[in-house]
Amino acid sequence: MAAAILEDVRALGHRLTIGWLYSDLMNIYGDRGNIQTLIQRARWRGLEVRVLELGKGASEGIETVDVFFFGGGQDKEQELVYDDLLETKAIHLANAMQRGAAFLAVCGGYQLLGHYYQTAQGERLPGIGLLDVRTVAGGKRCIGDVVIESDAELGLQPRTLVGFENHSGRTYLGDGVRPLGRVRRGNGNNGEDGSEGAVSGNIFGTYLHGSLLPKNPHLTDLILSRALNRELEPLDDSLELAAHNWIKDRELSGSRRA
Ligand code: GLN
Repeated sequence: MAAAILEDVRALGHRLTIGWLYSDLMNIYGDRGNIQTLIQRARWRGLEVRVLELGKGASEGIETVDVFFFGGGQDKEQELVYDDLLETKAIHLANAMQRGAAFLAVCGGYQLLGHYYQTAQGERLPGIGLLDVRTVAGGKRCIGDVVIESDAELGLQPRTLVGFENHSGRTYLGDGVRPLGRVRRGNGNNGEDGSEGAVSGNIFGTYLHGSLLPKNPHLTDLILSRALNRELEPLDDSLELAAHNWIKDRELSGSRRA
């Protein structure tokens, strides 16, 4: 009975379930802030929010998740989770993609949603192939603040996204994805083709840590509206956008380089 009522509440879009993949192992450079931002912006719209922590061996309730978050991690953390991702999560995540769940994957998580991540030692960690991308570690790490111009198709206003990157991986996009945006400042996917991140349906991959969502409320709302399959009432984002614009202006003006 209780489950049926919960289902009705969820069906009525009054409840959001966030699935946090490997919250204990894949969570660096403020990634936790993305969970807090998803929770708060859903609550400001009157939604009841539940966070399901999906660590190693855990998949109970995964079919009820509306939006998945997969944070970043150093090579050693990725080596600790990739097999569990393949064995206990992959089929559920593929089903979730089919039913329209949303995904935000950052850096190491982004790489493992792709086909593989090859470490600097040459070890190839297989991914689950939800995103048509391949990653190979490069020599010099890509570190610093990033500003991108998001893909017009996403309809984001402002078009820019800001964040922080720290990765050795160079990611190359296949035909099955579009970039999240074009780099205006920073390295992005590989420091060569000017692309950053990847988007396929409701799956968003990016190298942007920081954490990403607090300074990009427009992207947060896009991910939430995709997860809930409905438009969201606008909020007063003047504080968030002031932080966004401050970083953007500083990075694009080059004042920091002085
Ligand atoms: N270990 C991966 C790399 O170095 C991902 C790093 C991260 O998540 N910040 O590219």
